[in-house]
Amino acid sequence: MHNLIIAFGEVYQNKINPASLEILTPLWEISRALQKGLSLLILTDNFSKLDEDIDLKKALCDEILVVENRELAEFKDDLYSKVISSVITHLNPYGVFFPATLQGMALAPRVAGELGVGLCAHVNALELEDDKLIMIRPTYGDNIMAKLFSKSFPIMATLSLGAFSIREKGEKPIIKKFDLPEDFDWSSKIRVKKLKATKKEMNRLSVAKVVVAGGLGLKSRENFQKLFDLAEALGGEVGATRPVCHAGWVEEDRMIGVSGVSVKPKLYLGFGISGAIQHTVGMENSEFIIAINTDEGAPLIKMAHISLIGDAEKILDYLLKRLK
Ligand SMILES: Cc1cc2nc3c(=O)[nH]c(=O)nc-3n(C[C@H](O)[C@H](O)[C@H](O)COP(=O)(O)OP(=O)(O)OC[C@H]3O[C@@H](n4cnc5c(N)ncnc54)[C@H](O)[C@@H]3O)c2cc1C
Repeated sequence: MHNLIIAFGEVYQNKINPASLEILTPLWEISRALQKGLSLLILTDNFSKLDEDIDLKKALCDEILVVENRELAEFKDDLYSKVISSVITHLNPYGVFFPATLQGMALAPRVAGELGVGLCAHVNALELEDDKLIMIRPTYGDNIMAKLFSKSFPIMATLSLGAFSIREKGEKPIIKKFDLPEDFDWSSKIRVKKLKATKKEMNRLSVAKVVVAGGLGLKSRENFQKLFDLAEALGGEVGATRPVCHAGWVEEDRMIGVSGVSVKPKLYLGFGISGAIQHTVGMENSEFIIAINTDEGAPLIKMAHISLIGDAEKILDYLLKRLK
């Protein structure tokens, strides 16, 4: 009874989202301490077709549980959550955890709703207190860290992106196919009429070694877009503050901070970012911080290893010119 912990392994365009491997790190510790198995659950139309860009043989889990069916070719919230609920009903796990990705955030509440259990969202840390799993997450305007536990089983949560680092395991996990009952209803209310290929690569902000981030001090969407050139030149990823995402200068999945992703790069560059606590909690573990701001008193300037006092746009243009 409750001998298993399940982590959702997100697949997007035949690639495993690294965020799914991040959440295995704390779950592995918990599963060892509680003497439970840890499975990475993958839903796909063809397991052999998955890109080997990420080596699943090194995934930090006991087994990879694969549900394979042609109906799973495209992500459909209703069908995927039905499949996950069915797996849970059959395996009766102790806990089921999702990375707080778009798929994870769409599926976790649906599955919790279908099973009638609680769900804890955006968890940043997991702890054991006398064998009781405690989930920790910011609350009350992100001013305090709340410690929560679940009264229902399976315990369910989404885990914040970038809160944990990927760890590899020497031993290969077992790969096991999971067959749903013959009478399983594979129908979905979602019809995918056409898939438009996007050139957009999966954003790897949470694992990037260099992060080039921008805030409102960059003044415009056009200026913000130049950060992508700098990120490319430095082999990094672009991050942003919340108001920049809300202004539509960039997608929300690039938001760094308590409401977004946590980053811990070797180098973080912040252009026109004030350094509000809600942002800095998501980047304070960066190894080296460079801040660019017109205001000497800005909190990010005080926190940085190198501060450049000046206009963000001009300094960005200058850097791009020098790098070229
Ligand atoms: C519940 C809650 C959750 C939140 N979650 C997040 C989150 O996850 N992530 C996040 O980022 N924010 C979050 N916020 C918002 C956060 O509090 C700040 O408002 C936000 O981080 C500020 O963004 P900013 O630095 O781009 O803008 P501002 O605070 O407006 O700062 C702009 C900076 O640019 C500087 N500047 C102006 N002109 C120039 C120039 N020409 N050149 C250089 N510098 C210039 C200014 O001096 C200033 O320091 C949250 C807020 C709340 C209430």
